[in-house]
Amino acid sequence: MVDRIILHIDMDAFFISVEERDDPSLRGKAAAVCGSLSRSVVTSANYEARPFGIRAGMPIQEAKRKCPHLILVEGNHSKYTETSARIFSILKEFTPLVEVASIDEAYLDITDSLLLFKTPFHLSKLIKEKIRRGESMTCSIGVAPNKLLAKLGSRLKKPDGLTIIEKEKVQEILEDLPVSKLHGIGPKLAESLKSINIFTCGQLGRFPVSFLIKRFGMIGERLHEMGLGLDENRVIPFDEEEDAKSISHSVTLEEDTSDRDLLRKVLFQLSERVSRRMRKEGLYGSRVVLTVRYSDFYTFSKQKTLSRWMNNGNEIFRHSLEIFESISHPKSIRLLGVGMSLLKKEWCQQDLFEKREKKDNLLKAMDRVNEKFGDWTLTWAELH
Ligand SMILES: [Mg+2]
Repeated sequence: MVDRIILHIDMDAFFISVEERDDPSLRGKAAAVCGSLSRSVVTSANYEARPFGIRAGMPIQEAKRKCPHLILVEGNHSKYTETSARIFSILKEFTPLVEVASIDEAYLDITDSLLLFKTPFHLSKLIKEKIRRGESMTCSIGVAPNKLLAKLGSRLKKPDGLTIIEKEKVQEILEDLPVSKLHGIGPKLAESLKSINIFTCGQLGRFPVSFLIKRFGMIGERLHEMGLGLDENRVIPFDEEEDAKSISHSVTLEEDTSDRDLLRKVLFQLSERVSRRMRKEGLYGSRVVLTVRYSDFYTFSKQKTLSRWMNNGNEIFRHSLEIFESISHPKSIRLLGVGMSLLKKEWCQQDLFEKREKKDNLLKAMDRVNEKFGDWTLTWAELH
């Protein structure tokens, strides 16, 4: 097999950078995007605000206490989506193999592009330059032999970073790197690893696989691979035509509510309806989208891109609930919606299934382990 070269790109403080682009007077000042101006949470803070401890998910009252001169801008999701689409089309100029991982993150398989763009360094600089010129925004890029390490690379230097991890340097970089730096190892799983004296990736890679399997189930093997910096997941490009399709259901509640049990039931019913329609049309999807409208009509959607195709109601419910529970809902809820996008016809799924069955089982197991030990790969654009 040819060695692949994978690039991961992550926009820096995406939402607030869009706002700075449109209102340059915000530049150089502590500023953040929030849900709504009255009562809500910070969804994206710029790098001037971060030294004050301002983080995504923080209630705005707390943010104001920590940084009284913080400028708050009300979020405009459609503006972010449009910007994101323009950025992804820039990326597609460099390779057709672009996998959209979230609103501001993507993986590119640039192996074959290097004939044209020479080195990963040169290609990455070009991408940065194009985005800077087109959108007046910066991004951080990691280039590595696989997705796991490319993602790690883009996280190592931020903002406006460029980290190229060469195959020969992988072991050296991983040796003293805390396991929590790896995408997929959440805080609780990291804690659990600590309890068996595994702090660094180097230690994780050297730990006896049999022991890891005993402790974490079949995912032990995957953890071992992660410790060694191995990852065979390929970049799955998304087809715009197919992406245009989505299936969703939403419901306006009889009255605004914060009743978690009731909202859970509604999510379950919506997920079931979506899955029934998908099965009827022979479709499988790999992105779950949750839409929430609050009592003040502020509405937003959050999505999770999955590593596999599915149309099972329970699974859709599980993912939409995960998204739902990752948000600290500041107000009572008026409307809930569940949708699936990145859809494929059944035959395609079958084909993929055969090749990926083993990996799918592994991913499922990893989900379970992370459910038990902490959060798995929920990559919220707002958190970066
Ligand atoms: Mg980001």
